[in-house]
Amino acid sequence: MAKKLPSVLLRSGEDRRVRDGHPWAFSNEILMDADTKAIPPGSLATLRAPSGEALGLVTFNPHSLIATRLLTSNPEAVVDALFIGRRLAQAVSLRDRLIGVPFYRLIHAEADGLPGVIVDRFGDALVVQVNTAGMDALTPVLLEALEAELAPRTIVLKNDSPVRVLEGLTREVVVAKGESAGAIELIENGAKFVADLSEGQKTGWFYDQRDNRRFVAGVAKGANVLDVYSYSGGFGVLAAKEGAKSVLCIDRSAAARDAAMAAAALNGVDGIVSFEKAEAFEALEKLGGTMARKFDVVICDPPAFVKNRKDLKIGAQGYRKMVRLAAPLVARGGFFFVASCSHLVDLPLFADQVRRGLRDAERTGRILLTSGAALDHPVHPNLPETAYLKAMTLQLD
Ligand code: SAH
Repeated sequence: MAKKLPSVLLRSGEDRRVRDGHPWAFSNEILMDADTKAIPPGSLATLRAPSGEALGLVTFNPHSLIATRLLTSNPEAVVDALFIGRRLAQAVSLRDRLIGVPFYRLIHAEADGLPGVIVDRFGDALVVQVNTAGMDALTPVLLEALEAELAPRTIVLKNDSPVRVLEGLTREVVVAKGESAGAIELIENGAKFVADLSEGQKTGWFYDQRDNRRFVAGVAKGANVLDVYSYSGGFGVLAAKEGAKSVLCIDRSAAARDAAMAAAALNGVDGIVSFEKAEAFEALEKLGGTMARKFDVVICDPPAFVKNRKDLKIGAQGYRKMVRLAAPLVARGGFFFVASCSHLVDLPLFADQVRRGLRDAERTGRILLTSGAALDHPVHPNLPETAYLKAMTLQLD
């Protein structure tokens, strides 16, 4: 028999949003009496309306601003490996249809019915990030379900994201199955790349830019390309493989350089791709200085400049500066791709920074495409603000 779950009650009038399909309740919406506060962080619980009516099963963390995260609106459900397995199976079948090769974001948290969980798939290796106390407690069940669904050779628990601290969790990287993962090969857009599943940034690879990389490579045939913040060459190496004349990748990370050059070699374009290990703004200033080199395609896909709300104003100006420094390097009629993965910077704010940066650089042009993350990064309809990636491709005069 399933043991009885603790109950968490919403305050009077606070059940409307949850009834409307929103997967979260915030701590100020919960009746935090002594019993509720005593529920261990990460517990499974029954979420109840003020009337006592059960609204669903949630994971609960009394210490987190997002206090409850809905797992299912069926209060009778049993959350076990079969439950999680059904969600995994659905996610796998969607990705197999959308992507076609087993290299994709398999689970994108709430939108795939597993709040707080990210899983990236690299063939028979999986990188899992668990970002809430609730899913941390369910990790053994999640691992069991992954095993039953996919029987992977390797599972890395890449639990090093800073948000874990807000949930009262430690940060650590653990190989949960198989030998230590290290560098592996992946296929994206028909090209080969290298990702380090234990040491790389985030899960080792940014699948969210897959479609944007293909679009940019499509306009880069015969072009001289500059890929700033290149990481492992996702944009630049694909552009080279698709017929760019030259590609210069810039990133400050030595590991990124090694991965990008390895990818260039794997795709037979190491004669076309070069890499400069440098700080981006300094490199852009240098390129725009005495050398005044021009590129037919310039890509700027930086890390999040805004990491918390108090840095919003200053951080957002980083995008303006980036555009001011990079736009002068775009040849007349050339293409300029810029992206922001700061979830606090919305599209209007980002677009405004891009506009200002172009103005500073005294360049005009037109927006050809405004895009977001690839299809394996779906968004829960009640959480549109979690669509963090914004990208614009412009042609400059
Ligand atoms: N465009 C990449 C992803 C970029 S992630 C892709 O398609 O996969 C951001 C990258 O910026 C990281 O590789 C990081 O090493 C690099 N980076 C961060 N700050 C930097 C700086 N100030 N100068 C140069 N590179 C930087």
